[in-house]
Amino acid sequence: MMHVLRRFKSVGSNKVSSLFNPTKRRTHDSLQLKVGEEELRFPHVWLRDNCQCELCYHKTAKSRIIDYSQFNTNAKPKSVSSDDNYVNITWDDGHTSSFRTQWLKLHSFEPKHQTTYDEEIYKPKKSTWHGRDFFKLCSKHNYNAIISSDTALFQWLHNLSVYGISLIQNTPNNEAALENIISRIGFSKQTHYGVKFIVQSVPNTSNVAYLSNNLQMHTDLPYYEYCPGVNMLHCLVQTHGEGGENLLSDCHYTANYMKENHYTKYKLLTDIEVEWSDIGTENGNEFFKLHRSPVICLDQNEDISRINFSIPQRGTHFPGKLQDVTPWYEAQKLFYDLSYKFAANFKTQEGDILVFDNIRLLHGRNKYIDNTHNIRKLIGVYIDWDEIYSRWRCLKIKLNPNNSIL
Ligand SMILES: [Zn+2]
Repeated sequence: MMHVLRRFKSVGSNKVSSLFNPTKRRTHDSLQLKVGEEELRFPHVWLRDNCQCELCYHKTAKSRIIDYSQFNTNAKPKSVSSDDNYVNITWDDGHTSSFRTQWLKLHSFEPKHQTTYDEEIYKPKKSTWHGRDFFKLCSKHNYNAIISSDTALFQWLHNLSVYGISLIQNTPNNEAALENIISRIGFSKQTHYGVKFIVQSVPNTSNVAYLSNNLQMHTDLPYYEYCPGVNMLHCLVQTHGEGGENLLSDCHYTANYMKENHYTKYKLLTDIEVEWSDIGTENGNEFFKLHRSPVICLDQNEDISRINFSIPQRGTHFPGKLQDVTPWYEAQKLFYDLSYKFAANFKTQEGDILVFDNIRLLHGRNKYIDNTHNIRKLIGVYIDWDEIYSRWRCLKIKLNPNNSIL
């Protein structure tokens, strides 16, 4: 996965000139450069905007400081020259810019290079899965290795990003273990259920998760606009009797299946907003959370950005049109049934931390029965994808120190 960054390692010697032969083939608003066998084109305005000189770019803050009151979106290169490592541009207003060749290549606008950047730097590419493949793809990681090794930490975060699921094993049986894992990444996400929440059977509870009967599959906290991205559940005590298994289902698989086989119902789930809600009191703190969003949220590329799904935490108010209601319910029921059809069934052991993508997977739990000597107890904590992707990128650079190209 690090081949792109490694590829740049060899660049920087006098081999560069054979790789990178800029020519001055200009069109009206962009500059074409020959890179090995490739022709890479860069817009003038982008080159001027991304000038790396100390007037335009602050090296330690890694931030653009160009004075935009003076910025000319129509700036034109007056002359271009290059050596082994740099392309130098003098602009029509006399300003000069210097770009490292490997930096330019990384920022190429060619679709294949953009895809490479997306997967190597932006976010790992996701792989969807059916529950029958769960045991092949749910990677197992060791608690002590994650705490002590950056490579182990990176591998865990990478697998979690790709599949949305992973298991940490051999975790010490104490409440600090989750905090230790979180501190390896960044910061946890506090909600009205606390920094950490304890999942245990509680009568007269504020949340249906704190009951011991079947917990239908759902995403947590869909009523948050800024919904926690990842759920980590540390199993301190598992029921020794029957039940208590987790159900896990990859909604990206279900959504793709619906898109191919039930397109109209898929569109209803991507287009119609419903209202997610949580109303109550926890630790003396009253809350009344509402958030409107479709079940399947898409981004500008029509990729899934977030899944919201919870039978108990869908509010009673339906914000849409009357004629949409029945078709929407039919679509929701299909999504629910398919999620169960495609789900994996997995019982965690004491010492396991089950980690899953809360805005991608549905999770649930089978009914179980506590007895006085064996009271099931899990501790949970949330962390945002912002923290995870950030650590993933930092480690990617740290584990390959030659990658100072960004
Ligand atoms: Zn500059």
